[in-house]
Amino acid sequence: MDIHNLIDGNMRVKDAGQEMFRLIERLYPICRSITGNGVRETLRILKEYIPLQVIEVPTGTQVFDWTVPKEWNIKDAYVKNSKGKIIIDFKKSNLSVVSYSSPVNKSLSLEELKEHLYTLPDHPEWIPYRTSYYQKEWGLCLTQNQLAELENGVYKVYIDASLENGYLTYGEYYLSGKIEEEVLISCHICHPSLCNDNLSGIALAIQLAKELTSESTRYSYRFVFIPGTIGAITWLAMNEQKTPLIKHGLVLTGVGDSGNISYKKSRRGNAEIDQAAGHVLKQLNKPHKIIDFFPYGYDERQYCSPGFNLPVGCFMRTPHGHYPEYHTSADNLSFIKIESMADSFVSVFNILDVLEKNRKYINTKPKCEPQLGKRRLYEGIGGQSTQAVDQLALLWVLNMSDGENSLLDIAIRSGCPFSKLRSAADLLIEKKLLTEI
Ligand code: ZN
Repeated sequence: MDIHNLIDGNMRVKDAGQEMFRLIERLYPICRSITGNGVRETLRILKEYIPLQVIEVPTGTQVFDWTVPKEWNIKDAYVKNSKGKIIIDFKKSNLSVVSYSSPVNKSLSLEELKEHLYTLPDHPEWIPYRTSYYQKEWGLCLTQNQLAELENGVYKVYIDASLENGYLTYGEYYLSGKIEEEVLISCHICHPSLCNDNLSGIALAIQLAKELTSESTRYSYRFVFIPGTIGAITWLAMNEQKTPLIKHGLVLTGVGDSGNISYKKSRRGNAEIDQAAGHVLKQLNKPHKIIDFFPYGYDERQYCSPGFNLPVGCFMRTPHGHYPEYHTSADNLSFIKIESMADSFVSVFNILDVLEKNRKYINTKPKCEPQLGKRRLYEGIGGQSTQAVDQLALLWVLNMSDGENSLLDIAIRSGCPFSKLRSAADLLIEKKLLTEI
């Protein structure tokens, strides 16, 4: 694979941004949760883009300390006031019902009803997103303005939901590379009509999968589309024997907002993915943030639990909880930006490109500097203005290639862009001054 094909083809990056946005538009209306038909419908649509495998894990399956829950499905829900007017309508916003609400069909006073209502007083026009996966509850979400208008009286609450033995559904796409070692790309698919969290992550994963399918890659790639937390736990429980092959991994979440890119390091803190992300984001020369690992957030929590400690970081823009639209109806189609999606795509592709091309070498003439002039290496690479940098790149690669340092290590230490060191290494291999280990 080669990042230059992508970066140079600016039109393609723009097209990618638009394609991702169109996919998000298609997925936006679906009511998803950690189980149920919304997830199936989402995966069915994703299958039109990549040939992913859909896996169904039965309710009750033990997955480490957890149990796959009952399957939740919802057909309709509403609240009617005493005049028969619908004042909360699931058909208008699927955020109106607390995810995993038990079925309800009863009349209540306003006071009783209020115990089950959730609003955002600070943002009176937004509907919050709430869940109650592991406690038998029911609840409804509405705007603070709607709540303020409710008058005393009898309200009819109807939630046509079911919570039954069924399955937890997830999707997986495996792309075989030259070697068995793999890169894991993971995103959660359990949120209803919310765009940045995490239709943006899903769309980015699909775009990367499509792009990589047309490339010849060194690593194998595994894309998992799973419900948050329980999905990652289930996947790890069912695939424990595969995890030693995971050499690098990224959780993709919240990649479409207009904020800067943030990269959260793996628990290891110095894994190759952490180095690659740090180096690429620095080289792209755009404001960004590198965050140390902490045991909260998305599924990196599971991949980086001490029993696995996988080299999996989290790629996002504004971290979750750090923007007011997070987990509200304001995380809608106008909150995400095509340019941000395209920028996230290029950045992640760049990171993967570095991983693909990173190697360790040994200088075959380590005693003093080899004579570069007689091998025509002084004019060997680069154009006029960049020649000095390329010369320095040659010297860095030669000096640091003692079998211990990878090209990425050298890039970080020297401040030379990885791509220049890569070109330098290729030339030195050609001149038999470097051998791969
Ligand atoms: Zn979320």
